[in-house]
Amino acid sequence: MNDKLNTELKFLKGVGPKKAELLASELGLFTYADLIRYYPYKYIDKSKFYKINEISQNLAYIQIRGKFTSLSETGTKFKKRLSANFTDETGTIELVWFKGVKWIKDSIKPDIEYIIFGKPTIFNNKFNIVHPEIEELSKYDNKINSALEPAYHTSEKMKNMFLTSKAILKIQQTLMQQVYSSIWETLPAYITDKYKLLPLKDALKNIHFPSDLETLKMAEYRLKFEELFYIQLKLLRLKKVRIEKSHGYQFSVVGDFFNKFYKNNLPFELTNAQKRVIKEIRIDFGSGKQMNRLLQGDVGSGKTLVALMTALIAIDNNYQTAIMAPTEILAIQHFESIKELLIGLGLNISLLTGSTKAKERRILHKQLEEGEINILIGTHALIEDKVKFNNLGYVVIDEQHRFGVAQRAKMWKKNIKPPHILVMTATPIPRTLAMTLYGDLDVSIIDELPPGRKEIKTVHRFDSQRLRVFKFIKDELDKGRQVYIVYPLIQESEKMDFKDLEDGLESITRAFPQEKYGISVVHGKMKPAEKEKAMNFFVKGITKIMVATTVIEVGVNVPNASVMIIESAERFGLSQLHQLRGRVGRGAEQSYCILMTGNKLTNDGKKRIETMVRSSDGFEISEVDLKLRGPGSIDGTQQSGMPIELNIANLAKDGQILEFVRQIAIKILDKDPNLDESYNQILKKNLTNNEKQHFKWESIS
Ligand code: ADP
Ligand code: MG
Repeated sequence: MNDKLNTELKFLKGVGPKKAELLASELGLFTYADLIRYYPYKYIDKSKFYKINEISQNLAYIQIRGKFTSLSETGTKFKKRLSANFTDETGTIELVWFKGVKWIKDSIKPDIEYIIFGKPTIFNNKFNIVHPEIEELSKYDNKINSALEPAYHTSEKMKNMFLTSKAILKIQQTLMQQVYSSIWETLPAYITDKYKLLPLKDALKNIHFPSDLETLKMAEYRLKFEELFYIQLKLLRLKKVRIEKSHGYQFSVVGDFFNKFYKNNLPFELTNAQKRVIKEIRIDFGSGKQMNRLLQGDVGSGKTLVALMTALIAIDNNYQTAIMAPTEILAIQHFESIKELLIGLGLNISLLTGSTKAKERRILHKQLEEGEINILIGTHALIEDKVKFNNLGYVVIDEQHRFGVAQRAKMWKKNIKPPHILVMTATPIPRTLAMTLYGDLDVSIIDELPPGRKEIKTVHRFDSQRLRVFKFIKDELDKGRQVYIVYPLIQESEKMDFKDLEDGLESITRAFPQEKYGISVVHGKMKPAEKEKAMNFFVKGITKIMVATTVIEVGVNVPNASVMIIESAERFGLSQLHQLRGRVGRGAEQSYCILMTGNKLTNDGKKRIETMVRSSDGFEISEVDLKLRGPGSIDGTQQSGMPIELNIANLAKDGQILEFVRQIAIKILDKDPNLDESYNQILKKNLTNNEKQHFKWESIS
């Protein structure tokens, strides 16, 4: 953007230093350019007064003119609800409030005309409006003559300084008058023409002051297009630059270790998907470029074996491998199962976690530096600066969602050249999110489970049916199976979390006497050594029941366990439920997952349970999860951090636009990788501008 748009907001008429400060601190807006990109979150259709009998679905926020004909309050103290009938000459609609009940009730006067603003929704086959705004007709402000009136988010602090939504609208009007002619186009004409996009200045004008609903939709589309397009262009360029510049270790041979393992140790036939992924990795290894690959595969799809066999290729080429897991339990389990799988190959496999003793650690550090250790398995402890390798060639990061991008980067620095990196995740990420979070990685997918797996039967049971569930557990235990019973981990209150588990444990031990069945208990407050001991009893089959909070979520493998009971299942997120369910169904027996809930479920809770009962497809489940919760809250993305904050596009809703612009970006970069062509200069300039803007932001905050 040009100079004018870089002007600080305090110089804008109607803003001044005080308000500018608030806009900066509350909304992160510093310049004209920032403000003009601060979009409304909704629009009220003021082009007309709707008649009540004209109300249909899919309307924006509308206004209706009429009178209150009845008011009724229901519920007590905290669950009060006010419902009102609002009537015009064509009919009556119900208005509902859950908050501010008293205030609204007191301020409504009968027999005078009101305007109400709100978004009609269908409830019990009738339209109603929840939390409408109301205004007396006589006080109705008709001065803003935009048909669709925008509304902007503000904060309490801003409202106290009279920076209301309406005030922001006025400032936006002043700003638009001043800068409209100096808004430069950010997309080349060949793109705006081909895809019939509004010019930027008109898109911005209409996003704030839409002339009609249709133009508003076009403005939204243009801005979403631009936003997602630049993210993709940036990620794809990063990937290209990385591939071009980063020389990686070349693993040119597949040698004895790999071949011996394949011939003598491999306990089963690889699935086709496993074979395909191993081949993809082998090609990367041989390319001379550094690999950065994401391996997605549902729980139980056999990712560990892929990691292991590709590690053998690294070892065949005289390089060390590090395998990093998110929890100690999982690291230990990887360590033990990998050691067992590699028996007879004469390899040195070591374990490093937070609880490795100082003395052991010293020995380990030394062996590592001298290159005596072939595979080092561990937790975050591997990242510490003290841990130095002789020649680290390959890093596998299991369950990526627990690690951040920064940690990925840290492993790079362990060597002169960055090692090849394989990131494995069992949380299937919706495509749209993967493209945004990992758009710079190559992606491999294991889309096939090992043969002979039976579908896990999943059912929903209410707490009131507990006796029947216990009877079922008993039958399974008597058949020799093992059972998980999992309680939710309540982050806000560790105490409560523990209490849930303790209460549950009491009734479990009554129904299943310790002497007869053996119960392992694992929860977050135990010391790692205690946890490990309890886990091990269960793994070895000494205990038949594992009662746990979600610490067991990731990766544990006990093939004889065939029943997963999830208590208070409504309190878990979908991907977590799916992960937990993946703990069973690993052996030959029919497995079951029982989702226990109370009788009262929220709509979202119901939807989650229904989805689990209906589907076992991790990708489908993650799509539903994304729709229900929005992109910000998908498990793990908080930790890994979105690379760029989205201003207008929504990953849950705009997947199609995202796919579309990604393809466009790919084509452009194929033809003109460095954006050197004259017709692409505008892209190049805006890419660097975006980066600068980003930089500026960081140095301010
Ligand atoms: P995840 O992808 O969830 O990490 P694992 O690697 O733990 O899955 O594998 C789950 C189970 O499936 C393990 O017991 C493993 O030994 C087994 N397994 C892996 N690959 C195969 C295969 N090709 N055929 C049969 N069983 C397999
Ligand atoms: Mg795993």
